[in-house]
Amino acid sequence: DVKATKGLDFEDMFLRRELLMGIFEAGFERPSPIQEEAIPIALSKRDTLARAKNGTGKTAAFVIPSLQQIDVNKNKIQALLLVPTRELALQTSQVCKNLGKHMNIQVMVTTGGTTLKDDILRLSEAVHVLVGTPGRILDLAGKNVADLSECPVFVMDEADKLLSPEFSPVMEQLLSYLPKTRQVMLFSATFPLIVKDFKDKHMNNPHEINLMDELTLRGVTQYYAYVEERQKVHCLNTLFSKLQINQSIIFCNSTNRVELLAKKVTELGYSCFYSHAKMLQSHRNRVFHDFRNGVCRNLVSVNVVINFDFPKNSETYLHRIGRSGRFGHLGLAINLVTYEDRFNLYKIEQELGTEIQPIPQHIDKGLY
Ligand code: ADP
Ligand code: MG
Repeated sequence: DVKATKGLDFEDMFLRRELLMGIFEAGFERPSPIQEEAIPIALSKRDTLARAKNGTGKTAAFVIPSLQQIDVNKNKIQALLLVPTRELALQTSQVCKNLGKHMNIQVMVTTGGTTLKDDILRLSEAVHVLVGTPGRILDLAGKNVADLSECPVFVMDEADKLLSPEFSPVMEQLLSYLPKTRQVMLFSATFPLIVKDFKDKHMNNPHEINLMDELTLRGVTQYYAYVEERQKVHCLNTLFSKLQINQSIIFCNSTNRVELLAKKVTELGYSCFYSHAKMLQSHRNRVFHDFRNGVCRNLVSVNVVINFDFPKNSETYLHRIGRSGRFGHLGLAINLVTYEDRFNLYKIEQELGTEIQPIPQHIDKGLY
């Protein structure tokens, strides 16, 4: 699962200028990993099945390619975005309006909460993107109020819920109102068997993306400081005084060294929490992972990671430094590297296709 990052930006995706403007105005500077993977595939009109954790930006991952494919001069529903709840329908339509605000697109949201009469009125005017819950959309399609016969894009968000027994028969019926050649995009955080059944039955050779466990070094600036073993604590102290950080995570290569360092750091006057476990490496990686995710959940962002001891292999390096499927914050990684580590430094850079640069005198606050 060690994977180099591709580093695709929104500008590299051949998006229309108006759409790009909407994206940047929404404050999205760079795509999240799921967006980086899914948008180019979806733009190629291929069926897409994407799996990524909550909060990783799945909405924009399907809204952006949906909007890109719309011809605003055509007075037809050109994207149907299905979601399981009214709340989510409202949120999703808002994302469409935000990202598409310079495109002149018409977005309509319909759920059990809107009145049928209002919906009929609204659909007599131009609607390019229809967002809603399955029951109401089936109702509108069945009454011939919503014409889906030329709708080329069909998205199912939170597909695990859309395919639950409650909705599943409705979904089947709904599909019969869509054209035979249509692009299906299916997004979900979990993939129960029912999703697999749907895939086999209704999707055409879909491109599958699974970012559930993926770590990336994208957005992380990585430095190394060349030091002697006995200078490490001093070096750490200098880093603490130079960097404006609230929190950092420091890694050592052994249980003993964790305890020793924790003592030294406390002596230097910093509060320090330490954790180590005499368990398998794979377990330890999971603990770090959980710890970091837990920290993120509490909205205390740890953007600085220090390898007090440089790891022996790229997998450990990635687990320490990499970020899982998220975006937003940038990160800074500082590696203390001794003479003995120099080959590992080179090897890890090669294996991960990344660059670890010599530490500069001044570290830009904007990097972390
Ligand atoms: P998911 O559906 O995967 O749970 P959302 O689509 O709801 O995640 O996105 C979570 C949050 O991340 C939203 O507040 C959204 O505005 C924000 N977001 C999405 N993409 C980006 C991006 N590229 N850069 C910054 N923030 C983003
Ligand atoms: Mg979502």
